Amino acid sequence: MTRPAAQLLIIGAGPAGCLAAATAASVGMTSLLIDPAPVPGGSLWRIGHLANWPGFPNGPSYARALGEHLAGLDGQCSYVQAQVVRVEAREDGVRAVLSDDTSVAGELLIAATGVHTAKATEVSWITCTELFPQITHASPADLGVRTVVLVGDRPLGTWLRTHPDADLKLTVCHSLGDTYKVEEVRTDPRVHLLPVQAVSVMGAGPFKVDVHRADGARETLEADSVLTNIGTVPACLPGLAVGTDGFCPPVAQHPRVITAGDLSARDGQRVATAAGRGADAALTLYHRFRRQAV
Ligand SMILES: Cc1cc2nc3c(=O)[nH]c(=O)nc-3n(C[C@H](O)[C@H](O)[C@H](O)COP(=O)(O)OP(=O)(O)OC[C@H]3O[C@@H](n4cnc5c(N)ncnc54)[C@H](O)[C@@H]3O)c2cc1C
Repeated sequence: MTRPAAQLLIIGAGPAGCLAAATAASVGMTSLLIDPAPVPGGSLWRIGHLANWPGFPNGPSYARALGEHLAGLDGQCSYVQAQVVRVEAREDGVRAVLSDDTSVAGELLIAATGVHTAKATEVSWITCTELFPQITHASPADLGVRTVVLVGDRPLGTWLRTHPDADLKLTVCHSLGDTYKVEEVRTDPRVHLLPVQAVSVMGAGPFKVDVHRADGARETLEADSVLTNIGTVPACLPGLAVGTDGFCPPVAQHPRVITAGDLSARDGQRVATAAGRGADAALTLYHRFRRQAV
């Protein structure tokens, strides 16, 4: 079964997808915005403190504003709550295949599925069987006295700034390669940084964390809670061209397809960049295909 067509299919309703939809509407194009989440906003819902997007103190306030704007577009943008499993592009149009085996057809397609968090089991220096919660999904109230954080990526700094009054002690096991990323939390008295070569986690709360430290020493930590603080990988869709760095560059795609936002490039993983690239993607497709038609 194929659902009703729209001129533009937009996969992913983060800032890139939402600004693509808003910009498409401004030049008379109809769009279907497809995302498994019940409301638009994408990663904005996870930003507790937003310092670089003037007018909005946090991500959810901007996500709500985007949702209101799209709802007011008077039928030019429809929201479909669904997961896309594959995209297809041919000379005469595009198709997005959904997880329920149905598909939607359109003339043009923007993929803006962002990035998603890698799992602890995918990190070469961590041995564990359990999938621990990512720190951005944890509430300080849920954590025990002794909390070990695995990996020194960026979400930790954002999370600590979001919970400035949380009285915690976090032992952050990180590789030497991530040292530059943990600099922003080094002076936070709640954080103990532990550079490591390898870590092995056993038990099920309390946990035993065997640490092979970067200086060669070994120690075993007891932890009430274990969280991950791992970086992200692009949420590529089958059917998109993928670059050597794992991202999906806009210029490598079929002429009817453009990627935008975090999915499109390692650089510029910011709200403003995603919004700008989403808007630019819609205008680029408009100029490429639809300028004479509307
Ligand atoms: C914790 C955290 C804090 C951050 N703090 C800041 C900050 O302070 N300042 C800043 O500028 N940036 C910050 N960022 C980065 C910013 O959120 C991203 O750069 C921006 O949201 C990227 O927008 P996007 O639209 O490309 O992707 P996203 O916002 O990630 O949206 C992608 C959307 O695609 C959907 N999707 C994924 N796969 C599929 C699929 N198969 N089918 C359909 N839909 C799919 C997802 O559900 C999601 O809604 C932060 C990010 C996080 C996670």
